[in-house]
Amino acid sequence: MLVLGAGGFIGSHLVIRLKKQGHYVTGVDLHLPEFSVTAADNFIVGDLRDRDVCRMLLEEPVDEIYQLAADMGGAGYVFTGINDMDILYNSALINLNIINELMKNPKPKIFFSSSACIYPAYNQLDPDNPNCEESSAYPAEPDSEYGWEKLFSERLYQNLKKNYGVEVHIGRYHNIFGVETSWNNGKEKAPAAICRKVAQAHDGGSIDVWGDGSQTRSFLYIDECLDATIKIMASDFAGPANIGSEESVSITELAKKVIAISGKNISINYVDGPIGVNGRNSDNRLIKEKLGWTHTQSLDDGLKKLYDWIVQQNNAVN
Ligand code: NAD
Repeated sequence: MLVLGAGGFIGSHLVIRLKKQGHYVTGVDLHLPEFSVTAADNFIVGDLRDRDVCRMLLEEPVDEIYQLAADMGGAGYVFTGINDMDILYNSALINLNIINELMKNPKPKIFFSSSACIYPAYNQLDPDNPNCEESSAYPAEPDSEYGWEKLFSERLYQNLKKNYGVEVHIGRYHNIFGVETSWNNGKEKAPAAICRKVAQAHDGGSIDVWGDGSQTRSFLYIDECLDATIKIMASDFAGPANIGSEESVSITELAKKVIAISGKNISINYVDGPIGVNGRNSDNRLIKEKLGWTHTQSLDDGLKKLYDWIVQQNNAVN
């Protein structure tokens, strides 16, 4: 098994899962996992923008590739505009390099991690009624360059399957969260950012939330994301399929849940900041029909684990 992006949040957890299943796993990333020792049998620190690195990786016998490497982060990284060129160029180049190797050697099957950010902004104006059905992706109008790159790369992989016979599976992840994730480096997503703010606030204090808090999202715990990823890879269903939770919450509700978990008395200040679309929620009808999979864990259960982990991290650095 070859896990690209194995030093990142989902990749490092995926390596652990694949090892538990008894596979020999090679991981590749620009860096080792930040929060624990990698479980990979073989970890290559390398840059997938470099064609020679991709060539070297695909010269080895590989059964399955999980392509998770991308230049990405939370709203503070992808919605401010300042990283747009890097996001487009770096991630597209990674995918082009991998595809170039698979066009020469079309044997291994591959999972590509796409994103809910591919869905058109015009279908996500109403926080209570977003449309994220897989077939609604076109006419395309993602709200970020990150989403455009994912849609472009979906097309690359779909045509690799169509013209080169490579077995391709595509999942569109919707806000995956859990322990051992970015929490204080500018790439953190809403659950980790809010947990950090609450962990750092004193009892009776306040936290800042970007926007007016009415924007809605759903959040899937990492374990369930891995279940779905492995399930789609083991199936004959190519996707693209949503992999997310259908439990929609507003960002205010998310913040209130974390505040309740903390047991502190904390108020919320609404401040200007990048917020993305007004509403987004996973639509799991297709993946349920094809694979019998949908999320089962409640958001509260996952948030409790994440909050406790961030409190530990925060205590360790302060
Ligand atoms: P992450 O940033 O933690 O992991 C991505 C990894 O890719 C990082 O470790 C990074 O160093 C690595 N990488 C970037 N450029 C590289 C390069 N040139 N060469 C080698 N490695 C490189 O992100 P994640 O949350 O683990 O996401 C994994 C994948 O899932 C990404 O493709 C992401 O776009 C997609 N996704 C994630 C979410 C989510 O909520 N986490 C949602 C939708 C899609």
